Amino acid sequence: MNDQIDKTTEWVCDKCRQALVPQKVKVRYLDGNFEVDLLKCPTCHMVFISDELAMGKMLEVEKGLEDK
Ligand SMILES: [Zn+2]
Repeated sequence: MNDQIDKTTEWVCDKCRQALVPQKVKVRYLDGNFEVDLLKCPTCHMVFISDELAMGKMLEVEKGLEDK
């Protein structure tokens, strides 16, 4: 079983062929806000969401996040 994001593996954006970088992303889940480390494309800002996270139907990843 390997359902965790493996940060030693390079994940690559399908569109840009850019290596994804781990970044804190604000996630809204049910009534709470969380900050989680997700992998994000530095070029198109696509956030890679693991199947585990994607299965939470209430989950909304706020896109366009901090530009800092
Ligand atoms: Zn991309």
